[in-house]
Amino acid sequence: MSDESIDRARAAPPGAAPQEKRRLSRRGFVVGAAAGVVAGGLEWTSLRGRFDHRREPAGDGVAHAGAKERFAASLRATEAGASGVVHVGHSTHLLALGGMRLLTDPWFYDPAFGALSHDVAPAVPPSELGPLDAILVTHDHADHADLRAMDEMDKRATVIVATSDLAARARARGFTDVSVLAPWEERALGAVSVTAVPGLHDIYEIGFVVRAGDKSVYFAGDTRLHPDLAAIAERFRPDAAILPVDGTRLTGAPLHVMTPEDAGVAARTLGSRLVIPSHAEAYFSDPVAGHLLASTVPRARQRFAEVMQKELPGVACRVPEPGELVAL
Ligand SMILES: [Zn+2]
Ligand SMILES: [Zn+2]
Repeated sequence: MSDESIDRARAAPPGAAPQEKRRLSRRGFVVGAAAGVVAGGLEWTSLRGRFDHRREPAGDGVAHAGAKERFAASLRATEAGASGVVHVGHSTHLLALGGMRLLTDPWFYDPAFGALSHDVAPAVPPSELGPLDAILVTHDHADHADLRAMDEMDKRATVIVATSDLAARARARGFTDVSVLAPWEERALGAVSVTAVPGLHDIYEIGFVVRAGDKSVYFAGDTRLHPDLAAIAERFRPDAAILPVDGTRLTGAPLHVMTPEDAGVAARTLGSRLVIPSHAEAYFSDPVAGHLLASTVPRARQRFAEVMQKELPGVACRVPEPGELVAL
């Protein structure tokens, strides 16, 4: 095509008004599309934990009938010497081992990432957890590292986290005994030892094996299946394993969290005699996130129990209510 014919093709048709109208609507479309891309991008980075725009109220989820009373009864049982796992909600658990009380991955304020809310409220608000000896944080996602909630907790607790950035933020909230553990590093707390173990997630993550005497619990955080599960099994053979099950996936990205079936594979590898599903009591309260940007497996805790019943019927699988104690 000659330069002249290109110019002819570009020339305005007779009558300027339709051309102007077309240009405006095209600009409107471009602006709208750009706004959509920016909004989607913000939502995406939000879901990846890059920023947080949570509202004020804690635990948007529906309160579970009798949760507070159940939690109080569980605490009394642990004070009387029972070892076990008290389920608070989602990935938040109180481990009672060796006379110590260790809280895993605190999350109370909704919505995490501005998009994820509890569908069942945690058993108690953070200020009512009572005395804590340690708080263990596997990774820097808002549904696991709720610093605002930690600010309302027992500041005498030792805080063990995955990254120096999390450690700095915990210190800024007034915690004075804060440790960063790399995989396979260990920290002693009285009669209890806490060992960090590898995890595999969309950001850097560790898991924890907590041991006291002849009892041990593996808390897996948000991991998907990974080869080091075999090493964890070989080294610790944990009595109990708390495994994430909701199969969180961001659209267009690989799986971030085990599905119920994956957790069944993990349970087989670990060889634990007791398994507890976690990370499956939240929903995408932001409809854009829930419909377009991320997905989870429905009824994941129940599905995990079904998988375990079918694949490993000899392993106890407990699906606790908020506040319930699973004894070790
Ligand atoms: Zn996560
Ligand atoms: Zn999570």
